[in-house]
Amino acid sequence: MTLQDYLGVSVAPCAEAWDREERVPRRVLTELAGLGVLGAHISAAQGGRGRPATEWGEMLEAVGAESMSLLSILTVHAMCSFAVARWGDAATQEEYLADFVSGRKIGGFALTEPAVGSDAKAVATRFVDAGENWSVSGCKKWISAAELVDVFLVFGQTEDGPTALLVPRLTRGLSVVPISGSLGFRAARTCEVKFDHVLVPKRWTIGPQGQGFGWVASSALDVGRFCIACGSTGLIRACIRASSAYARDRRQFGVPLGEHQLIQAMLAEMTTDYKAARALWRAAAKEREDLQPGSIVETTTAKYFASTASSRASNHAVQIHGANGCGPDFPVQRYFRDARVTEIIEGSNQMQQLMIARDALAAFAPKRGK
Ligand SMILES: Cc1cc2nc3c(=O)[nH]c(=O)nc-3n(C[C@H](O)[C@H](O)[C@H](O)COP(=O)(O)OP(=O)(O)OC[C@H]3O[C@@H](n4cnc5c(N)ncnc54)[C@H](O)[C@@H]3O)c2cc1C
Repeated sequence: MTLQDYLGVSVAPCAEAWDREERVPRRVLTELAGLGVLGAHISAAQGGRGRPATEWGEMLEAVGAESMSLLSILTVHAMCSFAVARWGDAATQEEYLADFVSGRKIGGFALTEPAVGSDAKAVATRFVDAGENWSVSGCKKWISAAELVDVFLVFGQTEDGPTALLVPRLTRGLSVVPISGSLGFRAARTCEVKFDHVLVPKRWTIGPQGQGFGWVASSALDVGRFCIACGSTGLIRACIRASSAYARDRRQFGVPLGEHQLIQAMLAEMTTDYKAARALWRAAAKEREDLQPGSIVETTTAKYFASTASSRASNHAVQIHGANGCGPDFPVQRYFRDARVTEIIEGSNQMQQLMIARDALAAFAPKRGK
């Protein structure tokens, strides 16, 4: 299904321009909020749209097929708002959730630092006790859409260990420095976010002090991986769509490209990957709907497969387009750049492999003596 089928809108005509300009206009998010997209994952009891994970996933897949940059903004917003819905106290939920659902506030996710990536619990940002406030100092890097975000979920160290805190962007001492010219997800331009003794009320601490990584970041990253699994599946679909149209219309050696068997082999692999990626995220969605503990590893598996498969598919898509695949007139070079990023964010391929292998060692090894 396309975004048009789901929401009656399409962002595909704008996606190339957003990529060039390295920004998604804020009004797009407001419009999507009006269509229920920004609150889809928040329960109706908490003022959201309470869409089942399978339905939400279909929507995310449709967005990913049109703009992975937009998908990435929806992802960090979902991670931040989910964390507030899951771990925030009643007053913080009251203060933020309705605005997250309506799009009056966009949430961001600030975990990574210049020297801290995969080993995220080692963040060096400090939350120092300042009475009713935390005094936040440190630097975050690669923070998606930070120029657009209204409030960040920031992770830093307290005496008790890693802790999560909501920090509004427009706070004294907080500055945002854009990073232009990235490989992919360009319209969700990443930024450095610097904190120089930023005073933030302690009541905006999310989850227990010292459990910012084990509880809050882990569960938010699980949401992020679900979004990327679905979005990457959409990206594979976009690659097949563009490549099959091109292979039908472009002729070489007197016949359409699509009649050459080596081109067909690529289309077959892309299509098989699409169906497998879709089956995996839908299996993860079902587990999420049934509140199964296995949903975490199902989601990791879906994210790992869909991201690597989207890289394969976009590589084939560029190949099928030949020189046109490298130029500005076809979207496949953007697909290629965006797909590569999905293998690094929300836990790199290697981090996903470690998680999947750990589960396999426990789940598949025969019991001793059997
Ligand atoms: C476009 C984009 C958007 C992003 N948005 C955000 C955001 O909004 N918020 C945020 O907090 N972060 C964001 N990030 C950062 C992203 O989450 C990190 O890049 C990611 O966690 C990996 O960290 P790193 O880049 O520091 O790589 P490193 O951790 O330095 O790893 C480098 C390489 O070594 C591998 N590696 C590391 N440890 C091991 C190990 N134990 N075994 C085997 N291999 C290992 C990794 O897989 C990787 O291939 C974004 C990044 C990009 C590119």
